[in-house]
Amino acid sequence: MLVVMHKDATLDQINQVIAGVETRGLHPHLLHGEAQTIVGVVGQETGGLEAQFADLPGVAEVVPISHADKLTSRDFFKQDTVVSLNGVRFGGPDIAIIAGPCSVENRSQLLETAHAVKEAGAHALRGGAYKPRTSPYAFQGLGEAGLELLAEAREVTGLPVVTEAMTPEQVPLVRRYADMIQIGSRNMQNYGLLHAAGESQHPVLLKRGLMATIDEMLMAAEYILSHGNRRVVLCERGVRGFEPATRNTTDINAIPVLKSRTHLPVILDPSHSTGKAEYVAAIARAAIAAGADGLIVEVHAHPELALSDREQALTPEAFAALVAQVRAIAAAVERPLPAIVPPRSV
Ligand code: PEP
Ligand code: MN
Repeated sequence: MLVVMHKDATLDQINQVIAGVETRGLHPHLLHGEAQTIVGVVGQETGGLEAQFADLPGVAEVVPISHADKLTSRDFFKQDTVVSLNGVRFGGPDIAIIAGPCSVENRSQLLETAHAVKEAGAHALRGGAYKPRTSPYAFQGLGEAGLELLAEAREVTGLPVVTEAMTPEQVPLVRRYADMIQIGSRNMQNYGLLHAAGESQHPVLLKRGLMATIDEMLMAAEYILSHGNRRVVLCERGVRGFEPATRNTTDINAIPVLKSRTHLPVILDPSHSTGKAEYVAAIARAAIAAGADGLIVEVHAHPELALSDREQALTPEAFAALVAQVRAIAAAVERPLPAIVPPRSV
């Protein structure tokens, strides 16, 4: 339910609504707009609540929200949310590209790849230190040593860093080293992790579950927002289909559907959605044409040596070609692709 205040409602009247929400064991979320203030009500609502608030002084109208996603809904926030990582913006007019290796493997691999993706036009660096691998015998990532290398790569390139946390306990550690916490596909419904990411108040990249519906993805995001963190970027990364020619099936539809349902930024991962380097650029172009706010792309300085996701890793040259193509598509849909890495603010 949204309680829309009159544009000349007084602070006392707004506070009265907030107190009314709290005494019913619900949570108020304040949205101060240009013209008026809206109090979003979150929690288990009981019947008759709307009438109880409609008559309070200063209340213009009470709008029920029938669907369960509230804070993520465009009914709640009309304007696009912009998530900034040190000046790199997701969700504004710009297109932002995150690129880097699947896994952080060693110092030279990471630094060489980081410099190459920056040179090619990436705005942020990716690289997993904690890796969710199907086999327990596969490379599991370097852990904290990998986070330290990411911090070094950020220092020398100026690129903000995105990396995955797999457990709630890893969230504070990842937060310390990285500019954005990735929640991977396998953990989209790990509620303890969503809770911790919400509490962290740090930007979050939430990837769609392997077999999750759009509704389920929005509800996962809702967990993070309902813990007070609005800085969430959603990532379509393909879902499991029946077609074995590609690793997953890219759900391009999800981009316009999400953009209409939610104010949160939406990006696409063409690397995991196709699983094959040769298809990555085509799907990257399609995503930008469909309205995505950005991309996350796996790039390795020497793909043949990659310890994870070798088949889908682009060479730096192929990535540079992708960026040039994406720039052309972005111009066609009137979205700028900032060419220069913004200076670090710290
Ligand atoms: C990754 O980004 O390396 C990754 C494991 O992705 P996903 O969670 O989408 O499979
Ligand atoms: Mn990967």
